[in-house]
Amino acid sequence: MKTRSPSGPKDYSVVDARTGAELYVTSTEAEAILSVRRLGKKREVKLLRLAGATLMRAVVEDGVVRGWVNDDPSGPRAPDPRALKILHETFWTTRGWKDERDVAPEDHAYAKSMGLMFDPLTLTHDELIRRARAAVAAVTPADVGKAFLASLSTRRVEWRSALATYARGRAIEEHTAVGEVCQVCGGAARPTKHELDVLSFERYKWGGVRHTQLVYVMLDLECLVANGIPEPTPDDSRRLRALLDGIRKALPATEAHLEKAIVAHVDGSKSERMTLIDILIHAGVVARPEKRGRPARVFDDVVWSWFGDR
Ligand SMILES: [Zn+2]
Repeated sequence: MKTRSPSGPKDYSVVDARTGAELYVTSTEAEAILSVRRLGKKREVKLLRLAGATLMRAVVEDGVVRGWVNDDPSGPRAPDPRALKILHETFWTTRGWKDERDVAPEDHAYAKSMGLMFDPLTLTHDELIRRARAAVAAVTPADVGKAFLASLSTRRVEWRSALATYARGRAIEEHTAVGEVCQVCGGAARPTKHELDVLSFERYKWGGVRHTQLVYVMLDLECLVANGIPEPTPDDSRRLRALLDGIRKALPATEAHLEKAIVAHVDGSKSERMTLIDILIHAGVVARPEKRGRPARVFDDVVWSWFGDR
């Protein structure tokens, strides 16, 4: 493809959605830019992202990336086995959580190059809101649904996380911090350093844990897009129907009972199934009868009912 450089002397300031690094894309760096397309006020910049060498399309508006689209024709890739092993062994042993995080610098560098581990990221309140909203804008409900479905037969638990984070993320409104602890989103008003590695570990281990935290919403959806949206199979649809049927018959029930109700339909560990139930709660598929629409408490021993019964 013939390279066309962006017009104008300013070119584009592009925030790498994964690393937070600001890439100032100028015409002298045109080898990274594959095309520029104007869409009304928006511009689409197609560029080769250097981290992980993923072909991504950045949707740029007023010099700020509003979303990423993965154009990789080869489809989603499996996580690199060595990087996944490094990520896992940094936090987990056969006895459970490690007391101290432990990873060799060269191993961390390798896992970072594969998009599974990250440097700590310091973001202001407004930067986090902007990036989380950009991550939400980069996916559609259909993408999220496909990823959830495709997780059922493959046990790719990281794909099912987005059903919860997208539900949370869609409610994030553009705003500046109100108060020391923001009264709008609950985030810190001051710049905050985020450890992304543990979030990535939880995502690959169980399908995420902190689905309502904005930094996890951001990371989860950015990673989903960066790795590509999977295509579910008829077997996934069959599994989903059986899973929802199992839940419907069990309700009203506690989370622990729901986990038992789906044991025949969802492969994997008990923790994976508990997380799946949490995800369905966050997405509003299963709801607390008296508190529909309110954020759900995880590991709560309350009785859940079927949202569709209303
Ligand atoms: Zn806020």
